[in-house]
Amino acid sequence: MSTATVAGVTVDTRHWIGGQRVASADTFDSVSPIDGTVIAQVSRGGRAEADAAVAAAKAAFPAWAKLSPQERGAILHKVADNIEAHIEELAQLETHDNGSLLRSHRRGVMPRVVMNIRYFADYAMNDLKHPEFETRGHTNHVTWDPSGVAVIITPWNAPLMLATWRIGPALASGDTVVLKPPEWAPLTASYFAQLAHEAGLPAGVFNVVQGFGVEAGAPLTENPDVSRICFTGSVPTAKTVARAAAENLIPCSFELGGKSPTVILDDADLDLAVELAIEQYDNAGQVCLAGTRLLVQKGIAEAFAAKFAERAAQIKQGDPRDEETQIGPNIHLKHVERVTGFIERAKNDGATIAYGGEVNSALGTHYIKPTLVIDAPAGSEILTQEVFGPVLTMQTFDTDEEGLALANGTEFGLAACVVSGNRERAEAFTKFLVAGTIWVNCFFVRDLSAPFGGSKRSGIGREGGLWSFDFYADVKNTVFAPNGWK
Ligand code: NAD
Repeated sequence: MSTATVAGVTVDTRHWIGGQRVASADTFDSVSPIDGTVIAQVSRGGRAEADAAVAAAKAAFPAWAKLSPQERGAILHKVADNIEAHIEELAQLETHDNGSLLRSHRRGVMPRVVMNIRYFADYAMNDLKHPEFETRGHTNHVTWDPSGVAVIITPWNAPLMLATWRIGPALASGDTVVLKPPEWAPLTASYFAQLAHEAGLPAGVFNVVQGFGVEAGAPLTENPDVSRICFTGSVPTAKTVARAAAENLIPCSFELGGKSPTVILDDADLDLAVELAIEQYDNAGQVCLAGTRLLVQKGIAEAFAAKFAERAAQIKQGDPRDEETQIGPNIHLKHVERVTGFIERAKNDGATIAYGGEVNSALGTHYIKPTLVIDAPAGSEILTQEVFGPVLTMQTFDTDEEGLALANGTEFGLAACVVSGNRERAEAFTKFLVAGTIWVNCFFVRDLSAPFGGSKRSGIGREGGLWSFDFYADVKNTVFAPNGWK
């Protein structure tokens, strides 16, 4: 079988290499977290397919790199137009494949996918101005040149959004791309390849190799013909990718996990604090940025806990295709086991499960109830390791200083949310908070021009706006002397 039909949408399940569909001898099952059914059998790539994809991208590079940003931008806008015309199909595919909410795919995620392509196309056309400055009469002329073949490896929690947020700037820079989508949610990558092809993206400029990380991903990171590796995923995998990339000194951008704090100071607006805390359950907790550690100042802790429990009881968990559903399933049975394992060990460590803590079996095997863990001992696993499920912890603190120490007391530094009624106090608090992104009295406000990435173990590098071009392009300075001209 070379195609699958999911919710009426037919998608090719073979790789996309050099403008051709390529099948592997083996396939793997894509299982829907909604009800555990197999929805597609997908070509399972290995070194041969990975090498072929890099070779195709390398062959396509000179012609793509030679186009002006305007010429590339015109094609990329056509790609964006075609995505925009197929938002419903992409939303259906992604929801059935990874279990995230259909309404959020329709209204938030897929429109953002369109933006990911348009924004970076426009940036390359209009904003990379090639600044010039003088040094003792000499002119420095700075350019962002295409660098070669960019490998993009993505996780399953927001597959197409995370992929296009890299594909956009890589292609706009003049690089060609090989994408390795996640094995637990691969389908939108293949559909995207088809849409891009129909829109006129030349053969080989964008390629997709599907399969498992060690089989299809690792060979991509070991290939000396690759110029950039952008990896989004977990810290342990990033270390493997970094070791492989080191062999050929390939620059990497790493966007990794988190254990972010949601800090509620005692002057916070209680309703706002509760709503922001509840948002941390979004996407069934499978959000790298989620502020899963609720750190609440003692003066407000009792009122907060009562209101939070009341509000959490109203969360509607269910089928991600229903408009009213707020939390859907978790991605895969192995992941459900991983998350419930964290909960069991937290209990063994002496923590209390304030509510939730188990699978909502009335809904199926993949639906972990929104869970709150309290009284976990300092330094215990549940307070220090990324769970990546609908599991929040709550801790209290006395002074702002103590709150800051708790917030920073982690090896991660992806994001933080701070809730306070006093701007000066919030500014003082955030000044020494270590995180790539901090939201004050808000959450998840993201602009494509803003720097995005993690501090400490949460990543290396920043993407967004010019930071993306600084990574995907070769930044070059050409110095013109004032003399020697005829
Ligand atoms: P993962 O590290 O297991 O896998 C990520 C990707 O890497 C997958 O496509 C996988 O097939 C591939 N891979 C695995 N082994 C590989 C290898 N040896 N060589 C090359 N590729 C390999 O992560 P996951 O479980 O899919 O995703 C969850 C993680 O992603 C969480 O830690 C989460 O915080 C993180 N994440 C980070 C961001 C961010 O922007 N910072 C965004 C989303 C998710």
